[in-house]
Amino acid sequence: MFDALADRLENAWKKVRGQDKISESNVKDALREVRRALLEADANLQVVKDFVAEVEQKALGAEVISGVRPDQQFIEIIHNELVSVMGDANVPLAHAESAPTIVLMAGLQGTGKTTATAKLALHLRKEERSVLMVATDVYRPAAIDQLIALGKQVDIPVFDLGKDADPVEIARQGVERARAEGFDTVIIDTAGRLQIDESMMGELKRIKDTIQPHEVLLVVDAMTGQEAANLTRTFHEQIGVTGAILTKMDGDTRGGAALSVRRISGQPIKFIGVGEKVDALQPFYPDRMASRILGMGDVLTLVEKAREEIDLADAEKMQEKILSAKFDFTDFIKQTRLLKNMGSLGGVLKLIPGMGKMVNEEQLQKGEEQLKKAEAMIGSMTADERRDPDLLSNSPSRRRRIARGSGHADKEVTELISNFQKMRSMMQQMGSGQMGLPGMGGGF
Ligand code: GDP
Repeated sequence: MFDALADRLENAWKKVRGQDKISESNVKDALREVRRALLEADANLQVVKDFVAEVEQKALGAEVISGVRPDQQFIEIIHNELVSVMGDANVPLAHAESAPTIVLMAGLQGTGKTTATAKLALHLRKEERSVLMVATDVYRPAAIDQLIALGKQVDIPVFDLGKDADPVEIARQGVERARAEGFDTVIIDTAGRLQIDESMMGELKRIKDTIQPHEVLLVVDAMTGQEAANLTRTFHEQIGVTGAILTKMDGDTRGGAALSVRRISGQPIKFIGVGEKVDALQPFYPDRMASRILGMGDVLTLVEKAREEIDLADAEKMQEKILSAKFDFTDFIKQTRLLKNMGSLGGVLKLIPGMGKMVNEEQLQKGEEQLKKAEAMIGSMTADERRDPDLLSNSPSRRRRIARGSGHADKEVTELISNFQKMRSMMQQMGSGQMGLPGMGGGF
């Protein structure tokens, strides 16, 4: 995501790097690069103009801070402006005082609206909110079935009245059902069209007037760049929306949509879709997105992801083991599984500042393959051997047995064990304070 934009912006700081302060002349070249970067990312022209003007003013007015390089200062100004243009803070989904909270989904066909309905339902359930989904798209063949299938997949109920019913009536009855059965939130999926047309807007308006939603979320496709922003504005002008869900942010989107939606439509992006799977939805945080755009990684998302997966008590025990070099193969497997639950190795590394660039696809693939191999070999060890890797260092016959059992060469088993021992002794040194924490790069 945003690789091209990040690279281009890097060119911008190069222009101020090595200068002793930000000045009118060196900032000019840098701003030209920034402008070009944003336009190439398909951000809206007005947004770009305002952005550059704002950065220029702040950069020239910036006081020299001792110890901070001008390029670092410039990056900070850009970062802050990116955050500001995307709306400063996350705007959470409404939560009505008296249930149910009513959420109306709108959007053109193919943007990912139906998928987003299920994603949002799943997301809310993780927050302990009970959800009913309502299928009103009677026009697209199989749209209702699609929602029902997604509902089954995530075990969230779907209300429908078949495809011969009136969408307004389905929505009305769906909300009634949610109220009667005490659901916390009801999400209404609506029909999308290939283009905005009067009958689509008319129907959406009637549904909206009838059910009086707390949220009207427009689902827009990030791949359409600044068009996503224009569309949000049009929908807002015509029916009134409370926010957008930007889908397909996992693709090679250039970033223009994320940068333009807020300024152009006045409405916040509340969530982003980052994949086809139902759990691929994230709340939108402008500051995290700005960090990603700048190629600074996204430590916060990583921390949050890790928090979801890691049991803190477990983590503490693990840390103790690591520092006292009691870390064994069983722990290693545990950690590998954890990493897997958090996503692929590449996915996790990309979230760490600087890592995304430091390791290339080939290295990642190698890393994943090595993990897989290690898992197979550890799978062929006895419980004793896993707990006490020294047993293996001293016994070629044990190593041979593991090699045969896991279908690997003797040499590979020897390598695994020797690497593991090296890692342990490094950990031990860290634990005894003989060594500072290794730099990310060195450690890797
Ligand atoms: P609708 O017509 O707006 O209801 O669109 P659908 O929900 O049927 O989605 C259209 C296509 O986009 C499907 O193939 C989805 O799997 C895909 N899709 C939806 N959201 C995302 C996303 O965030 N990332 C990716 N890569 N694909 C998505």
